[in-house]
Amino acid sequence: MTTNKEVAIEEMLRDAEEAAEPGVTKAGTVISQSQDMTMTAAELQSAGYVYVYDTITAKSSIVNRNMLSQILQKMRPDGSYVFSTRKPENIEIIQGSLKCYMHPDDPDREKYTKMGLIVCKKSDFLTELDRLTHLKNRHPRAYATLELERTRSEREEDRLERMALTDSLREMNKTNTTKGSKNG
Ligand SMILES: [Zn+2]
Repeated sequence: MTTNKEVAIEEMLRDAEEAAEPGVTKAGTVISQSQDMTMTAAELQSAGYVYVYDTITAKSSIVNRNMLSQILQKMRPDGSYVFSTRKPENIEIIQGSLKCYMHPDDPDREKYTKMGLIVCKKSDFLTELDRLTHLKNRHPRAYATLELERTRSEREEDRLERMALTDSLREMNKTNTTKGSKNG
């Protein structure tokens, strides 16, 4: 069954513009030239990368062409597509400024490096949730490590709280007993 959805995706695939591979080389940059052969970066990147745009924020991302059809099928709960290969017009680009937990500038970076956690330079998250989702999906090992740390320190806090409570109860009991013996 060919659905409208599939047609739309085919169309978007066709319209997908070439994007430079993340990093140094730009698509179309001539990187090797010999007598009868000119090879461009675009040709070398046989899998290829393309730009996709968030249909609401217009924020662009570079994706591997192999992943493109999968990414273009992502839908919002209202049934609209999350990404398009066409740059949305008349949308002011909303860009966040929150850094990934694994960013080199993170206050805990030194500790994370000692723990062998990955370094990530992503720094445009809009919300805390976006940042957390990214950590969970992109850095599962770091996520699991931090989660483990968090539960452990929470348990430790609980323990200290319980100890403090026991102490104050004991203290209260003592006071009551002393009072009791004085009065009686
Ligand atoms: Zn990251």
